[in-house]
Amino acid sequence: MFSELQKELAKRATQGLLRTRRTLATPQSPHLTVDGKPYLAFCSNDYLGLASHPQLIAALQQGAQQWGVGAGAAHLVSGHFGAHHQLEQQLAAFVGKPAALLFSTGYMANLGAVQALVGKGDTVFADKLNHASLNDAMLLSRAEMKRFRHGDMAQLAQLLEQTNGQTRFPHPNPLPEGEGANESLREFPVKCGRKLVITDAVFSMDGDIAPLREMLALCERHDAWLYVDDAHGFGVLGAQGRGSLFQAPLREGVGWGSSPRIIYMATLGKAAGVSGAFVAAEQVVVDTLLNHAHSYVYTTATPPALSVALAQSLQLIEQGDALRIHLQKLIAQLRAGLSDLPWQLMPSETAIQPLLIGDNHQALELSEGLRERGIWVAAIRPPTVPQGTARLRITLSAAHRTQDVDRLIVALHELAQES
Ligand SMILES: *Cc1c(COP(=O)(O)O)cnc(C)c1O
Repeated sequence: MFSELQKELAKRATQGLLRTRRTLATPQSPHLTVDGKPYLAFCSNDYLGLASHPQLIAALQQGAQQWGVGAGAAHLVSGHFGAHHQLEQQLAAFVGKPAALLFSTGYMANLGAVQALVGKGDTVFADKLNHASLNDAMLLSRAEMKRFRHGDMAQLAQLLEQTNGQTRFPHPNPLPEGEGANESLREFPVKCGRKLVITDAVFSMDGDIAPLREMLALCERHDAWLYVDDAHGFGVLGAQGRGSLFQAPLREGVGWGSSPRIIYMATLGKAAGVSGAFVAAEQVVVDTLLNHAHSYVYTTATPPALSVALAQSLQLIEQGDALRIHLQKLIAQLRAGLSDLPWQLMPSETAIQPLLIGDNHQALELSEGLRERGIWVAAIRPPTVPQGTARLRITLSAAHRTQDVDRLIVALHELAQES
């Protein structure tokens, strides 16, 4: 078996696909030290520069003083603390939903929420470029999967249409009763005929925004639910950073996404600068997740001190217009500065600005060339992105200065001359 694993890894290496890690010696920031060498980095999702913010550090310290370090139990046992509870209420209010549920990570939130809401006999409709955690979530749910071409609302409409009017019967529970069968597996819910459309709001490797309004209209027409993963929009997009549902709001302070069909998920380790995730929705949906989402029920609650830090982060997000305006300025600066390169920036208005290279090895070489110049940009390759679309995923943060972006622009032009 070992030689088999070795062979597989060696094959990945020859394809330019082997993944390795680099160990940081300094906190998350555009200015980092790796192996004793300073780098200017453009690869974090710390879009507002909050990951090392002094007020969040102080809040985490105070939170640990007040609540200790570990939660000690799952939420449903004795691990649900006042700090968690208050944060859930603040998050729900912030995104304009009746209720919210905290999860340990975005990955777990997606796995748990989708598995709790749909199962055998139901259908999920998913954009082909959705995040890997959403794909895994669909598989885990055992609902029938229908994937549509990226952003293709005509195809989504067609798939929804085809699913209408089909008679569906609940399938028998796939696992045997009795001996040996883990109770959590036997309890697998059987549902019938539900439709759930699942999408990233901001696509993580492309930076473009999903046509959420059109999607919601289709969901209304076909009586489907809409699950929106706003990992890269929460804190960054919409008024006061309330997220993608607040882009072009219906009226002041009211996100059009207040539709009860929308189940809104966002992560707290990206723009919010800490860790975790939440799902916000109607109370009955949240109660369902609380009862049925395995990644919620069968895991230890996050340290309550993190919720104290996150409450502080939420305040900084709400008051963070200056940060978001600065970020927008950097995005415009980068796009203007890179418009004449032999490689194209992908069409994106967000802090995710991928430079499409195509070839895996060339993407790696460019990333390496930048590294030699003290600049760190990650090369993203298949299977994270489709074959032939390897890219440099440049991400900007409000913690970058205009001179930092200038340095990246100059370095990429030098590399373009050399190649
Ligand atoms: C990062 C990400 C997640 C996972 O969130 P974590 O908190 O890092 O586990 C889920 N969905 C999308 C779109 C993401 O970009």
